[in-house]
Amino acid sequence: MIQRVRFAPSPTGSVHIGNMRVAIFNWLFARHAGGRFLLRIEDTDRERSTPEAIETLLAALRWLELDWDEEPMYQSDRANAHAEAAERLLAAGAAYREDKGGKGECVVFRMPDEDAVFHDELKGELRKKSEDMADFVIVRSNGAPVFHLANVVDDIAMKITHVLRGDDHIENTYRHVALFRALGAEPPRYAHFPMIVNRQGKPYSKRDGDAFVGDFREKGFRPDALFNYLALLGWSPGDDREKMTRAEMVEAFSLDRVKNSPAQMDLQKLTHLNGLYVAEMPAEEFRAQARAVLADCAWGRDIPEAALTPVCELMQSRTKVFSDVVDWRYFFDAMPTYDEKAVRKGLGKDGVRAALTRLIALLEQYPFDEAGIEKAIREAEREAGIREGKLNFAVRVATTGIATGAGLYETLALLGKDKTVARLRHATEHLCG
Ligand code: GLU
Repeated sequence: MIQRVRFAPSPTGSVHIGNMRVAIFNWLFARHAGGRFLLRIEDTDRERSTPEAIETLLAALRWLELDWDEEPMYQSDRANAHAEAAERLLAAGAAYREDKGGKGECVVFRMPDEDAVFHDELKGELRKKSEDMADFVIVRSNGAPVFHLANVVDDIAMKITHVLRGDDHIENTYRHVALFRALGAEPPRYAHFPMIVNRQGKPYSKRDGDAFVGDFREKGFRPDALFNYLALLGWSPGDDREKMTRAEMVEAFSLDRVKNSPAQMDLQKLTHLNGLYVAEMPAEEFRAQARAVLADCAWGRDIPEAALTPVCELMQSRTKVFSDVVDWRYFFDAMPTYDEKAVRKGLGKDGVRAALTRLIALLEQYPFDEAGIEKAIREAEREAGIREGKLNFAVRVATTGIATGAGLYETLALLGKDKTVARLRHATEHLCG
């Protein structure tokens, strides 16, 4: 039997990474099994499911290269099928009409008089007592089908064999299993994935940091890195691999290695992983992406290729996310923009001015290359009685304006002697404490 799974999002205008991880697990499951990955747009809420919201969703899927195998189903096209199913349930006595309070009659599904039970591929048998399950509305008084009915009728139409979704749907599944049976269909198999949570164990949201696929795309994360990170957030290949190609993930994926406990979002880990992907990019591709970021900065638009290339060569292995590129300004401007906090921390201490002044003189005595620069700094430290290595930070802040960057000696060699000396001088005259 060919396994058929689906991603069935309700478009809202932004795509949460938790939802995207559900899509990724479905996709990996289908690709691993040689099955079909289908897309159903649950767009019955016409107010939220605008054409733009649907486009945002499709764009997120395409960006992550989650390709689907058949024409997407749009739930809003299926009104007749939903109404017809409700009629059948009414005719069979599995549903009845009721006026829930003067608003007109709705259609209510009659929950069978027995415990609701289903097998979850991750959690085992899940059961709910009959007395805890109430009948529920499947068609509103205005004729609109309720989520439960539309979801099940469409899963039947799409011949879905496995419903893999978030565990916020477990309560729904008790009802859905009964609906499948009442409609004469065998329920699919189910797996409910635990949520993505924050450090406090609460559902991870926008308040905890970037939470939507679009945020990561804008910040310059790579889709392959985000895919890799989300796939391994709550699933493990059974060994300690953390960076995996798509082919490796497809090969290794299985539901029994999806963890049955909430997965904690770790932005730092994602950023680190992204850096590994960035480091591997072909140099031209890296440069083109860096250019795209620079094109959005007034100061970065007209940087000649000859100036950009060596900076890219130096910075690629240190670039974690493409938004880091906006920090490269100090390579190109005459003077850096000084970060106040870095200045206070790096240049505020006693003795720094004297040491930097001495360094300017020492730089004249050695070749201006990495080794020569290092020698000059070590000598300036010794003469000023500063512990070895401690002057580097002051030099970095004086010459780049910020606290982080690539290796200091390489950075200065690339900046060139004129810029380096002019900035050190500026620091001794205006910035040292
Ligand atoms: N549209 C629902 C959601 O996004 C359906 C989920 C499902 O059945 O997979 O939560």
